[in-house]
Amino acid sequence: MNFLTKGIYFARLLYSLQVGKVVTPLYNVQMDTTWMCNLKCKMCEWDDILMDRKTHIDFNLFKRVIQESIELGLRKINLGVAGEPMIHPEITKIINFLTENRIEISVVTNLSYSIDKFIESLKKVSKIIVSVDAATPDTYSKVRTGGDFERVISNLTKLSDSGVNIIASYVIEKNNYKEINEFIKLMHKIKVKKLHFGIVNNINQDILKQVMLSESEYNEMLEIIEEGIKTSEILGISSDGMLRPGFAISHRERFLRRLDGGTQVPHEIDSIPCYVMFFFATVTPRGDVYPCCDAQKIPWMKVGDLSLHGFREIWRGEIYNNLRRKFKKPGKPIICERCPLEDFNRTMYRYLRWI
Ligand code: SF4
Ligand code: SF4
Repeated sequence: MNFLTKGIYFARLLYSLQVGKVVTPLYNVQMDTTWMCNLKCKMCEWDDILMDRKTHIDFNLFKRVIQESIELGLRKINLGVAGEPMIHPEITKIINFLTENRIEISVVTNLSYSIDKFIESLKKVSKIIVSVDAATPDTYSKVRTGGDFERVISNLTKLSDSGVNIIASYVIEKNNYKEINEFIKLMHKIKVKKLHFGIVNNINQDILKQVMLSESEYNEMLEIIEEGIKTSEILGISSDGMLRPGFAISHRERFLRRLDGGTQVPHEIDSIPCYVMFFFATVTPRGDVYPCCDAQKIPWMKVGDLSLHGFREIWRGEIYNNLRRKFKKPGKPIICERCPLEDFNRTMYRYLRWI
């Protein structure tokens, strides 16, 4: 982008945010190629009732969305969040189509399957986020039901040896919080250099109660995290999310409050507008469009149906613009308290709060 293009882009962004009507390019699309999954994790936040686990996105629909998105400015796509994206019967065609169109691809996968027939496709992906969540087979079997730990580690080794950009992800919960340090050391051993640590999230209170840390476990975790930060530094591994210095302590009250039903949205988060909606959209395998992946849990947040309308029409349409305006103000639903893109919203707010 040259200076003039940047200036025009910024002016369009300010206009969009001011009036709550998007005239900026679409930057990123989140797309589940399928809702099917090879695992059945206890803490899975993707409800079988909301998701028809047999649904794959139709390849022609996928192509149509991407072609329209490219005209709108699309640069990046994230494949997979509520299912295992590599299960899609035409995943190789999907990745090839995106690569031919120079779209940067991120894939979220559990890697608990044979990757031999996918290895060439995976090498074309710019970022692979692998859900591991354990440092031993025993813990893995408790967290990732139906998965095969040894296979995941062997696949990770193959991919890191091929030079693929990998982020190994660790969602902290009751069953695995004691293994954070062992996980860092194991990833170092197989040459994975980037780790992300989140904390378990689920709007189903019954599931959350089974997997979320108690107050004493949380306090114990704080000490383990301190040790983990030191281990990462010594081994030269980048560990973000919960392992950012001070993060787990400053978010302590908020995380623990999740166990109280989580019905209150804390004022400081609720008062920040959702800027994500001006850059981002989520497309489900059924062809429904939502502002972000978590919004799929709230049926009234659906902004369009691709069997009835084009993607451009939905992205610039009144239903999505109304939601953009509504989410500039407080009173957001429960999912926003646990916003996976909170960092992005906070950063934008720091610079653009005057709008
Ligand atoms: S791998 Fe992911 S989508 Fe599949 S069951 Fe586990 S948490 Fe859910
Ligand atoms: S969770 Fe809420 S605040 Fe976060 S991106 Fe989605 S709609 Fe926006």
